[in-house]
Amino acid sequence: MTLAEAATLLEKNKPAMRKDGSQNTKIVATVGPACNTYEKLLALVKAGVDVFRLNFSHGNHADHLKVIEHVQSINHEYNTHIGLLADLQGPKLRVGKIRDNALPLSEGDVITIVNDINAEGTKDAIYMSYDQFAEDCKVGERILMDDGKLVFEVVSTNDKDTVKLKCQHGGVLSSNKGVNLPDTNVNLPSMTEKDRTDLDFILTQPVNWIALSFVRKPEDLTDLKRILDEQRHPAKVMAKIEKPEAVRNIREIIKSANGIMIARGDLGVEMPIEKLPTTQKEIVGLCMQYARPVIVATQLMDSMITNPSPTRAEVTDVANAVLDGTDAVMLSGETSVGKHPELVVQYMGKIIAETENQYWPQIKSKRPTAVDKSKLFYSDVVCFNACRVAEEIGAKGIIGMTTSGYTAFKVSSFRPNARIFIFSDHLNMLNTMNLIWGVQCFYYDRFTTTDETIQDCTDILREGGFVNSGDTIINTGSMPLYKRYRTNMLKVTLVD
Ligand code: PEP
Repeated sequence: MTLAEAATLLEKNKPAMRKDGSQNTKIVATVGPACNTYEKLLALVKAGVDVFRLNFSHGNHADHLKVIEHVQSINHEYNTHIGLLADLQGPKLRVGKIRDNALPLSEGDVITIVNDINAEGTKDAIYMSYDQFAEDCKVGERILMDDGKLVFEVVSTNDKDTVKLKCQHGGVLSSNKGVNLPDTNVNLPSMTEKDRTDLDFILTQPVNWIALSFVRKPEDLTDLKRILDEQRHPAKVMAKIEKPEAVRNIREIIKSANGIMIARGDLGVEMPIEKLPTTQKEIVGLCMQYARPVIVATQLMDSMITNPSPTRAEVTDVANAVLDGTDAVMLSGETSVGKHPELVVQYMGKIIAETENQYWPQIKSKRPTAVDKSKLFYSDVVCFNACRVAEEIGAKGIIGMTTSGYTAFKVSSFRPNARIFIFSDHLNMLNTMNLIWGVQCFYYDRFTTTDETIQDCTDILREGGFVNSGDTIINTGSMPLYKRYRTNMLKVTLVD
């Protein structure tokens, strides 16, 4: 790509790229019927979406394929790097059919859970999609249904196929409602048959992230990682944290995943809800320490599914996630089925910009102070010191060149004051990195000499209006260029 071509592309994507660096925290939007046309997806990109989430709990492969093609077209036409996150349903438990689709239950009522998928759906026989439930549950454990609206306690099990539950908090149970087992040691494979079928489709597509639901321990990610390796698919693995067991194993899960989603919907049902805010803070902090992007998800702007503006509590929730230092905030029903998808993204952008702008020191104080003694220790030190030097000399930006994405993940984890401009010749990786806090991605494939590459990147940024003559920037890179080592060089450049 020539510099003139680069400048034309940057000019073209003006409406879709934040040139002023006013938002570091990224926005993930779930796609659904409310936003799945080309025009609506483009409107969301222009409003500030960085990554689209394809929720495989809903829709069919043909629907998802159309969305993927639209996003690819947008990236192509507007030179954007919008990422795609495929979210596998995982071992989500549900009850089967309920007779007349309504079973009123009151405190003290006893219901019977059976293994028969054709169960009549009355108090005496309700199917649940967990065949070993009778073996795995124990008397006294809590069972929650319909997002925790109905609460039960196990009163007996025959250890084979029948479990009796006593209702502690009643309501009306309808067909296919979700079931949460916060106390049970759930003994199910991390990927269901449906996940495997969905994965077969996903692996034919250029998705950047694959999220696995209901991860409990690091080993749950092993199969997915192996399949990706075998198929040589570049997607990165995200662990959804929605079980108390995952919270207990969080450090090891973070280390073995490439990214984390704090799935507050199920997590808020499975653990005491008052623990949610501190758990969120703890997980975000650890993700920063291990340089793993983290998404805070669910109910951030829930009332905007119907209302044209958020509640005070929602605005504060988004701001608090930003102050915790999250890489991204995620919209679910708000964009997938809501009435105001574009407006909700615009609101989110405004809250992010205002919060980051007014409360920068609080985000900065979350920055990890030490660099782990990993095998990439030297690169980590270069990235860490790029951020320090940038701060000391008031540099406008830190420029990274990457093939693996490592520099982007690492530099961002130190949450620098300076903007983060990442150049790569791997288009897929550019879209992957679009999820990471503060990272702005640029395609660059003219790796000649270090001097020329530094000059080219500077020119692209200046021509694109990202930096101005007289600004100072920090270059990180690897020398000699052709060896493509990990980052081993740091340079201060004055923009000419
Ligand atoms: C959640 O539970 O918060 C979540 C994001 O998962 P899902 O939407 O897949 O239920």
